[in-house]
Amino acid sequence: MQTSFTPEQLADPHVAESEKILRRCVHCGFCTATCPTYVTLGNELDSPRGRIYLIKDMLENDRPADREVVTHIDRCLSCLACTTTCPSGVDYMHLIDHARVHIEQTYRRPLADRLIRDLLAAILPYPARFRAALALARIARPLAPFLRRMKPLAPLAAMLDLAPRRAAKRAARTIPAAPVPTRGRVILLDGCAQPTLDPGINAATLRLLTRLGIAVANPKGEGCCGALVHHMGREAQALDFARRNIDVWMREVDAGGLDAILVTASGCGTTIKDYGHMLRLDPLYAEKAATISALAKDITEYLSALDLETLPKRDLVVAYHSACSLQHGQKITALPKRLLQTAGFTVRDPAEGHLCCGSAGTYNILQPEISATLKRRKVKNLEATRPDVIAAGNIGCLTQIASGTAIPIVHTVELLDWAYGGPKPVKLTG
Ligand code: SF4
Ligand code: SF4
Repeated sequence: MQTSFTPEQLADPHVAESEKILRRCVHCGFCTATCPTYVTLGNELDSPRGRIYLIKDMLENDRPADREVVTHIDRCLSCLACTTTCPSGVDYMHLIDHARVHIEQTYRRPLADRLIRDLLAAILPYPARFRAALALARIARPLAPFLRRMKPLAPLAAMLDLAPRRAAKRAARTIPAAPVPTRGRVILLDGCAQPTLDPGINAATLRLLTRLGIAVANPKGEGCCGALVHHMGREAQALDFARRNIDVWMREVDAGGLDAILVTASGCGTTIKDYGHMLRLDPLYAEKAATISALAKDITEYLSALDLETLPKRDLVVAYHSACSLQHGQKITALPKRLLQTAGFTVRDPAEGHLCCGSAGTYNILQPEISATLKRRKVKNLEATRPDVIAAGNIGCLTQIASGTAIPIVHTVELLDWAYGGPKPVKLTG
């Protein structure tokens, strides 16, 4: 694609990077076929190619974002299916990240939208606030149908709908002692939303790692990875989260003997693997951020390298939902399924596995209608495989899909922990 940025514009490294990305696009439109919003809405402006044109036009003309651009960029799930499909290697992720920051800096959203985004950014990344908000949401749930009728307040209704009906039991993070000598030493990211919504995931991970002889360090002070606010274009807040985590984790790196930083929420994993890029212009953090990104691994990536024992077949069919952040963001597709098969499970792939379930961070709150359409489509495809259980590797997908089906849904690592000697996941015990 030809571009016409001036040398002055290209002096801004963010613009220079976006220009490089834009130039790779050859307008072929292959990406439209796998884009969930284009497939759902049928509008070229809700396709990757359409959004690329909108972003190009806005940046080239140094224009503040307007309502049309914001509407179509907001509808993008950042699922990155387009990056998997694109034959030219267009780095859509960093282009849309730049567009979101530009929107945040140049566009004044309507009041209700502003307040809801402020609320999300002030609550979701902080576990104590999030827990309190979920308790309130359970009480306020009967208000959801009324809120849904007032369009600007529909995101609040979506929030109430998504809140789990029962509070997850709080689990203190106790790290079982690993047998000595250990086969490795890792950090396991706690994160923000996942321990509140489903503390059983990291509990299963800790048990499994410990049985496998992996020591898990528990550095104090880490928190949200920043993904939630990063995808809202709130870059300063996202970078603050990233720097704090980097400071905490670098102390472990500097102490020596750290093999990996493990992540069980693939949405967070994609962002941590991108810290090196996000902080590339920060002279104090660029190198440290690159070190942390190189150490970050999805839990299934790490387990796959451990050569787990092949177990006898067991009578349980698993429909595997491939989270977008895992399959498109981190290009991890076969490893989780292979691990489940090695552990004796029968694994089935749903049709349209490349399409997003509609969760996408805060998308299911901010774009409830498109999100609900995608959820119905995903659940229908998953249920068609007639599984006993659904497995996925991202808390957002787990919450989204659970709200649309009666089939139990668990994290992949919970099934692996069970297969290799841990307890049966609570959701499968009846
Ligand atoms: S990230 Fe997903 S929703 Fe956004 S343009 Fe690409 S395929 Fe479409
Ligand atoms: S597939 Fe790639 S090159 Fe083709 S239109 Fe989409 S982004 Fe551009």
